[in-house]
Amino acid sequence: MSNRLSSVVVVGASLAGLQAAQTLRRSGFDGDLTLVGSEPHYPYDRPPLSKRFLAGTWDEAKLRLRGAVDPDEFQFNWKLGHKATGLDLEQRQVILGDDGQETLSYDGLVIATGARPRTIDGCELTGVHVLRTLDHARALRSDLEGQSRRVCVIGAGFIGAEVAATARELGHEVTMIEAAQSPLARVLDHETGMAIADLHRDHGVDVRLGVGVAKIEGGVAGGQDGDDNGGDTAQSGGVERVVLSDGSAIESDVVVVGIGVVPSTEWLARSGLTLDNGVVCDDTCMAAPGVVAAGDVARWPNSRFEGKLMRVEQWDNAVEQGGYVGGRLLAWSRDDAVEPYAPTPWFWSDQYDRKIQLAGFPSARAEVVHGSIPERRFVQLYAGERGELIGAMAWNRPRHAIKAKQLIARGANMSEAREELS
Ligand SMILES: Cc1cc2nc3c(=O)[nH]c(=O)nc-3n(C[C@H](O)[C@H](O)[C@H](O)COP(=O)(O)OP(=O)(O)OC[C@H]3O[C@@H](n4cnc5c(N)ncnc54)[C@H](O)[C@@H]3O)c2cc1C
Repeated sequence: MSNRLSSVVVVGASLAGLQAAQTLRRSGFDGDLTLVGSEPHYPYDRPPLSKRFLAGTWDEAKLRLRGAVDPDEFQFNWKLGHKATGLDLEQRQVILGDDGQETLSYDGLVIATGARPRTIDGCELTGVHVLRTLDHARALRSDLEGQSRRVCVIGAGFIGAEVAATARELGHEVTMIEAAQSPLARVLDHETGMAIADLHRDHGVDVRLGVGVAKIEGGVAGGQDGDDNGGDTAQSGGVERVVLSDGSAIESDVVVVGIGVVPSTEWLARSGLTLDNGVVCDDTCMAAPGVVAAGDVARWPNSRFEGKLMRVEQWDNAVEQGGYVGGRLLAWSRDDAVEPYAPTPWFWSDQYDRKIQLAGFPSARAEVVHGSIPERRFVQLYAGERGELIGAMAWNRPRHAIKAKQLIARGANMSEAREELS
């Protein structure tokens, strides 16, 4: 018996959600299709927020995602500026708003609520930023316009490093702080991580490694620090400095906190879905009958990498997985069998004149097969336990990066990869 699919609700009106919705339409789904998004904006692209948009060379019109340039093109019902606050799996209803009064019924549901930035105390101070949304980027861009400022970036992950690079290119004085001994220590080996640190140092960034943040300090608006009016009229003022765990302090006009993200699953807390660092799905991205998840919020076993449970915070995956789950819902409605979702992850980061690309996953068994790390133009391969190629990183070698992705996808071993990529 097939499952009814006359209405689909997509929660999360961004890259993965839009891709799922477009795929449904392109595959002939002509029922009700509603996109719910907590942001007031039509779907836009996030990668430029730390690059060209932040640099001021791209305007907002350029950010709009292709499928949303003409919002009427696909006959979606847009519910922008609406937050999902709950899910009733039994009744097949999404609950909207803090009062929970509005509900949306569905036959099929796409969960694509992405991720939100981690924060620390002090984020409420004026001049302290996180960067995930267009509104965040507008605020940060406005703080970086005009005169030279003292910018402190907390966290040397990809977002922090890109913001540091853009701020430096805008002429600001930049300090980047990283608690680990090298940037991206969870992903990259020490030598490659240090290549990122050195790249920034050569561009004039003060990179501090192996030191944490004790606190972010700011002034108090509406009264002076320590005045005895009970603090009733005091409001948080502007940031002044970042105090580090070694006792030193970095005087700052602008602080950017880039310490990672957490998947946006709060609204699903009482839904009965399995939540564990994301919405846990089967290998076809199905979290419950008629419920699929895609993009930064989804966690699923990837059969290409021995069924390893993964959640991928990457643009390419949001597009691919969004498209896949659109088709998955249709297959579910027809009771058709589907192939598991088994992509080769793919990521890029632009910092100064370096294009850093990563296919698959890094491992401790790393080998440079082309160029050299000190030259900052190289291809590094990562081997799995059986000598198979599981990942590759390329700096300013885009053709090699694409080739490496193909080799990983077809299960090449290291000697084959060496031959093709050296
Ligand atoms: C500044 C920046 C730079 C990046 N650069 C790169 C890069 O160079 N390369 C790369 O590969 N990737 C990059 N990424 C990552 C990439 O943009 C993400 O992987 C991608 O946006 C994920 O898409 P998504 O649709 O899963 O989630 P998101 O784009 O996060 O969208 C989720 C949407 O759901 C909404 N939402 C959340 N909760 C609710 C709710 N309860 N109800 C309704 N709506 C809700 C959110 O507001 C958001 O609009 C970057 C990300 C950022 C922020």
